Amino acid sequence: MATVIAVFAHPDDETFICGGTLAKLAYTGHRVVLVCATLGEMGRRLGIPPIATRESIGQIRERELRAACEALGVQRLELLGLRDKTLEIQPQGEVADRVLRILQGEAPSAVITFHDPLGGHPDHCAIGRIATEAFSRYQATPAGGGARLFYVSFGEGAEAFRRFAQPVLAAVQVDVSGYKSEKLRAFRAHRTQSQLDRSLWGSDRRGTERMGNREYFIQTMGPRLKQATSLLDE
Ligand SMILES: [Zn+2]
Repeated sequence: MATVIAVFAHPDDETFICGGTLAKLAYTGHRVVLVCATLGEMGRRLGIPPIATRESIGQIRERELRAACEALGVQRLELLGLRDKTLEIQPQGEVADRVLRILQGEAPSAVITFHDPLGGHPDHCAIGRIATEAFSRYQATPAGGGARLFYVSFGEGAEAFRRFAQPVLAAVQVDVSGYKSEKLRAFRAHRTQSQLDRSLWGSDRRGTERMGNREYFIQTMGPRLKQATSLLDE
């Protein structure tokens, strides 16, 4: 079974953005690895009611992330331990070296990350650049030749990506309707972020009803997919 690696900036990126896809991959027998650059310790949210202080927030968010990974079926969590809100001033090549070593050890078929600049937040854009550099170097190795790179997309359209002079190989829509309860459990593991979407804290039924049935990705590197409904050729 294939391995898929997601490379993100903060605890909760994995769940909020593509938790359904990660759960679907994991629960259909694939190995899912998450690389998280920071502990999100500079985040303003401490939960409602507050369950963390400025001092404890990093430690608590790490615990939340581990619980979310368990809910999603993520088998390995690799923390890069970089300081929150500083990713754009980190030495890109050195951090990319570290990500590359993880890729070489895991030999993934697919890598997911943020697009720069469409990822929005400066940390998202920076980890996206880092992961893209690591992926390019991995792709040049024999193990990485068949691997694909995907950027998370906040909607169906590939049009926004086409503005950036990159070939859009596929606009992928993953049906995650069968994995909303796993995603909801992961959401609720991130208790410090509870004010983001209050509806998720009511009944399970209301929580899952509010979630979209699809998650979107843009493939820009690697062999063309047979079907744009999965990150892997099944
Ligand atoms: Zn984030």
